[in-house]
Amino acid sequence: MISDNKSNVLAYGAKSLKGKIEELSILRRDCDTHDIEIEIDYCGICHSDIHMVNNDWGFSTYPLVPGHEIVGHVSKVGPDVTKFKVGDCVGVGCLVDSCGDCGACRDHEEPYCEKGGTWTYGSFDKKHDEITYGGYSKKIVVSENFVLKIPSNLDLGAVAPLLCAGVTTWSPLKHWNIQKNDLVGVVGLGGLGHMGVKFAKAMGAKVVVISRTLGKKEAALELGADEILISTDLEEMKKHENKFDFILNTVPHKHDVNPYLALLKRNKTMVVVGAIDFLEEIHGGILINGRKSIAGSLIGGIKETQEMLDFCGQHKITSMVEVIGPNQINEAYKRMQNSDVKYRFVIDMKK
Ligand code: NAP
Ligand code: ZN
Repeated sequence: MISDNKSNVLAYGAKSLKGKIEELSILRRDCDTHDIEIEIDYCGICHSDIHMVNNDWGFSTYPLVPGHEIVGHVSKVGPDVTKFKVGDCVGVGCLVDSCGDCGACRDHEEPYCEKGGTWTYGSFDKKHDEITYGGYSKKIVVSENFVLKIPSNLDLGAVAPLLCAGVTTWSPLKHWNIQKNDLVGVVGLGGLGHMGVKFAKAMGAKVVVISRTLGKKEAALELGADEILISTDLEEMKKHENKFDFILNTVPHKHDVNPYLALLKRNKTMVVVGAIDFLEEIHGGILINGRKSIAGSLIGGIKETQEMLDFCGQHKITSMVEVIGPNQINEAYKRMQNSDVKYRFVIDMKK
């Protein structure tokens, strides 16, 4: 049953290309049979939000209400909802729907849905004939199949980034089967990078943060990294060549990946999760000489997102966050672009 009833909800978004984030009123549908309505407590700020406001990927529509690291409480449920009840503490990540029927969906890999999933914001929702709006808002309505259960022992604000930064780093570490004592490099110590460090450590790996920023040394070690490698120090980079079992690259822009590929051991892989963009030319010789691979990875499926959250509950893992009010989002964007955040801004949507 698709209801035509919609109500106004307070949100924060960009009215036009590269616009400032400002207060907006958006329409949210009433709950369909399998929908739940969530009162949003916190929403993380992902670098993807900045890319989308700036239309870096070429498919943004405006007004754009970003936000795909959402946690809150169920305020209403549709008549056929079985998984959740009013009051439950829940989360929503980057996806709110997929076909459910293709090979990827059947394999619980909804981000790779062959018919194209529906993203939490800035995406056309075919089922409801509407553009989706994200978590920089007071409420959201989502099918129960795309809602996650939040472990009750974790700080809610610090959980929000797990819904994107968490699963985006968890998924490749799991898929490439990171083992105890593997040497894992994490390129870029931002929102994604710091979760990569935490998860790789929790899996027993030795972790090296590979950063442009000398000033992040102490912070990286405090976070649990075993070492920091400054990517602009060519002598140190040379010393680390052919040493790594896996590299997770979170750099948000087009960049030269060759120096990082050189760090991999024979037969090993670097996974790019950051630059959803052209990469600079890759030197075939670096791949060939050592049978090295470069791959990509897109967030994670709903099932593995739940597994990641449950793991975080068991191991008391959360994100390191700086909680802000909605009126500080524009300033937060500027600071993120200067790599000045430890390590995730989270908006308190109750403010
Ligand atoms: P972030 O918090 O801004 O962190 C990115 C880090 O990358 C920075 O802290 C910085 O670390 C490094 N960096 C920034 N600019 C760089 C440059 N020009 N060259 C080299 N290093 C640079 O961003 P985030 O939220 O972690 O997101 C990272 C990227 O992942 C974004 O592009 C986002 O869109 C993408 N993303 C992808 C997925 C996916 O499913 N694949 C999911 C979520 C996000 P240092 O100071 O340590 O060098
Ligand atoms: Zn994200």
